[in-house]
Amino acid sequence: MRPVQPEVFLVARPAIDYGQMAAYLREVGGENWLERLDRGDLDDAQNLAEFAGKVCYRAWEPGLNPNVRRVRNDHAEYLANILKSAHGSVLEHASFTFVLHNISRVASHEIVRHRPGTAVSQESLRFVRLDDIPFWFPDWARQDPELMKRATALLDQMEDFQRWMADHFGLDEAGVPFHEKKHKTSFMRRLAPDGVATGMVWTANIRTLRHTIEARTDPGAEEEIRLVFGKIAELMRAEAPLLFGDYEVTDGAWVPQWRKV
Ligand SMILES: Cc1cc2nc3c(=O)[nH]c(=O)nc-3n(C[C@H](O)[C@H](O)[C@H](O)COP(=O)(O)OP(=O)(O)OC[C@H]3O[C@@H](n4cnc5c(N)ncnc54)[C@H](O)[C@@H]3O)c2cc1C
Repeated sequence: MRPVQPEVFLVARPAIDYGQMAAYLREVGGENWLERLDRGDLDDAQNLAEFAGKVCYRAWEPGLNPNVRRVRNDHAEYLANILKSAHGSVLEHASFTFVLHNISRVASHEIVRHRPGTAVSQESLRFVRLDDIPFWFPDWARQDPELMKRATALLDQMEDFQRWMADHFGLDEAGVPFHEKKHKTSFMRRLAPDGVATGMVWTANIRTLRHTIEARTDPGAEEEIRLVFGKIAELMRAEAPLLFGDYEVTDGAWVPQWRKV
């Protein structure tokens, strides 16, 4: 058994091509809006959300759409109004990609239940052989010596059994065809615990992130997924504070001011 800790790496975020955006805005008379924007490294997701929202009403300047006499020029105010008015579809344009490392199959199974606005690439335990059993123990479990002794012995036995099966099936002998390795590796994973640590690449847009952060940090959610989504939430609040700044955090539960946008 190899003790591990679930980790979250944010590996990709949106990047605006401001040149192309400017070219479009020149066409529709909205260049001034672009001039007012901050364009720092972390501004693109929020700028993209505002851009998508402004396209809807041609709200770059008063008068471009005769029905629009006033426009909101303040970026923070504009995005707050998007959340308040539940205009969440504009948040779907900005996606973030995370590596969820050393999460268990318990957590990954729950994460893939979230469907709209996500993309998943999960480590295949049909292809990737378990030569050890990486495993996360929560703090309360680590403080229980008898539990740890018995759990560790059980996991060590499972680990030995994985190695025994690999040897028994001759998987490392020369000339074993890959389909045979795959067939047996897939069988072998059935004898690993649900808590075995593995990993996935998980992409979600901002609308989905807001919903999943709330659902999966709820006190009723499972403890590992709460830990993982707490980390995702911290990252997102730093990435896009105007779109994740309305959460109140109490005992690890992230509750937004504006629900289900
Ligand atoms: C605390 C907790 C306990 C849970 N316990 C269980 C359990 O015991 N058993 C179990 O099976 N699952 C359980 N789940 C999983 C839960 O039922 C959902 O499947 C999961 O949380 C995905 O969330 P979602 O339904 O909001 O869908 P998502 O896929 O995250 O979709 C987001 C939203 O899009 C809309 N949407 C998505 N798909 C559709 C659709 N097909 N039709 C209409 N609207 C749609 C809904 O408004 C939905 O809320 C639990 C989840 C939590 C957070």
